[in-house]
Amino acid sequence: MPYQSPVSDFQFIFDNVVGFSQVAETEKFAEATEDMVTAILAEAGKVADEVMAPVQRNGDLNPAYLENGVVRTSPGFADAFAQIAEGGWLGISADADNSGMGLPTTVATAMNDMMSGACLSLALNPLMTLGQIEALEHHASDALKDLYIPKLISGEWCGTMNLTEAGAGSDVGALAAKAERNGDGTYAISGQKIFITWGDNDFSKNICHLVLARLPDGVPGTKGISLFVVPKFLPDENGEPGQRNSLGVVSLEHKLGLHGSPTAVMEYNDATGWLVGEEHGGMAAMFTMMNNARLGVGVQGVGVAEAAYQQALSYSLDRKQGKTGGDTGMIFDHADVRRMLATMKADVFASRSIALACAVAIDMGNATDDADWKARAALLTPIAKAFGTDIGNEVSQLGIQVHGGMGFIEETGAAQFARDVRVTSIYEGTNGIQSLDLVGRKLMDGGEAAYRIFEEIETGAEAARASNPIMAEAVWQATETLRETTEYLVSVSMAERGSVAVPYLRAFARVLGGHFHLTAAVAEGGNGPRTKLARFYMARMLPEHVSLLSQVRASHDDVMALTPEDLAV
Ligand SMILES: Cc1cc2nc3c(=O)[nH]c(=O)nc-3n(C[C@H](O)[C@H](O)[C@H](O)COP(=O)(O)OP(=O)(O)OC[C@H]3O[C@@H](n4cnc5c(N)ncnc54)[C@H](O)[C@@H]3O)c2cc1C
Repeated sequence: MPYQSPVSDFQFIFDNVVGFSQVAETEKFAEATEDMVTAILAEAGKVADEVMAPVQRNGDLNPAYLENGVVRTSPGFADAFAQIAEGGWLGISADADNSGMGLPTTVATAMNDMMSGACLSLALNPLMTLGQIEALEHHASDALKDLYIPKLISGEWCGTMNLTEAGAGSDVGALAAKAERNGDGTYAISGQKIFITWGDNDFSKNICHLVLARLPDGVPGTKGISLFVVPKFLPDENGEPGQRNSLGVVSLEHKLGLHGSPTAVMEYNDATGWLVGEEHGGMAAMFTMMNNARLGVGVQGVGVAEAAYQQALSYSLDRKQGKTGGDTGMIFDHADVRRMLATMKADVFASRSIALACAVAIDMGNATDDADWKARAALLTPIAKAFGTDIGNEVSQLGIQVHGGMGFIEETGAAQFARDVRVTSIYEGTNGIQSLDLVGRKLMDGGEAAYRIFEEIETGAEAARASNPIMAEAVWQATETLRETTEYLVSVSMAERGSVAVPYLRAFARVLGGHFHLTAAVAEGGNGPRTKLARFYMARMLPEHVSLLSQVRASHDDVMALTPEDLAV
């Protein structure tokens, strides 16, 4: 069954679960009226279904390759990208002053979810460009903005993000790339970057690399890093691609999945670049891009999970095996198959709601400058990233399982989802690093932002007691346990938090999922599909928080006591 964007799910979550109307009521997003958002979601869904989904298998079967220094892209990708650009989707959240649509991050997040479900390899290209537009809007000089942003929005040029080096992955501050002042306002950039997504292609007139490098007087670590925009072709006096810059693709990586997305090793050899933001202020500038990119990667996981779920559901209604005694006569009737499908569906909803709630907080923070909204967005970002991508992995594995042996056979496409989504829990900060961010920086307020969320969940659960007493009690109890564990966690040292960060993040997400399922059930009323799914979640999935949170109380020493010799026995 071809992928179909879950437009009605977004509409339901916007209207009933994450309170999108607050965003639309702000002055900044006054144009994001209900009608406008409904129309945008439907149009974005069409692009995903009709333009991107048809090239999903092409990317896997005909990977991008390097030919005489130029990356040749998978069949159909150039045309699909052109249609995305023509639709104005590259400027969805860019400022209207810069010829963007100026729409809220919440709407852009829904679009990313749909595009990732349709074809993640291709979707990464517009996502990189969207991130670059955002970084330039916030940190570049007016001259750079005027030159680059319109061309990035129109799709004539596209953007990449160059942080990683062989010796600098999670530890970006260890990077060795150098920048020298040329004396004319430009800089000479040298060094090698690895794993650069869409480092080159054969359909953009220019490719603009955002590169992190260190000036000679930059101190070691992240504080000494600066950010530069380094285009493949130097813009001439008319702003058109002119002389070739001294940079290139050394090779493309052979990888587990995402074969349609070229992952490049890039070499910069005194390449001309322009400073973005302040000298030595590169990490601050890059953070603008990375924060929203983390949410963007979270919904890459959700989008792929949605696609894997749709395909598994369709297969289960088509495959006959054994006597089922059920209504469909297909494997769907087997209780275990239905359990897997319900698990997939329930976690797609939970992770999508968390991501959209995070997006609403980002929008509200931007629109109102309110510190509480900003703290909420900051708290939810690592959860949205890590949980969304974990769910992408888990759901796509379940998708294979529902297919039985056919899931292991490439032609069904079920395995492609699992291979493609695997990296999402690694890039943009591994999920381990996201969890450390949650238990470290995001709890530095003593847990204040977290407690505000717990308060809100408990108020919601109290209100739901009349209509859904059992589910309301489950959510209320789980939140209390999470609150008590958070109180414990903020009382212990950072060193002790390290080994329990991942289970804590997961438990937090499980409780948030319970809250959103309950909210959906209350909004639906009666005993409809959302209420039945919520009951399943409360009985089968929410209880996971108990074992996760008991791990948080475990001693840090049990992990650190294990030496290399112990683990080699
Ligand atoms: C397909 C693909 C596309 C990518 N695209 C881009 C791109 O466009 N631009 C770009 O700049 N980079 C890109 N990356 C790089 C990606 O962001 C890094 O791979 C990622 O940040 C992890 O770095 P690393 O691979 O060096 O792993 P390491 O940093 O070596 O991590 C190895 C393990 O150690 C753990 N670890 C490391 N440090 C800590 C710590 N302090 N505390 C606890 N655990 C720790 C990690 O969680 C991980 O489990 C891409 C990678 C891939 C595979």
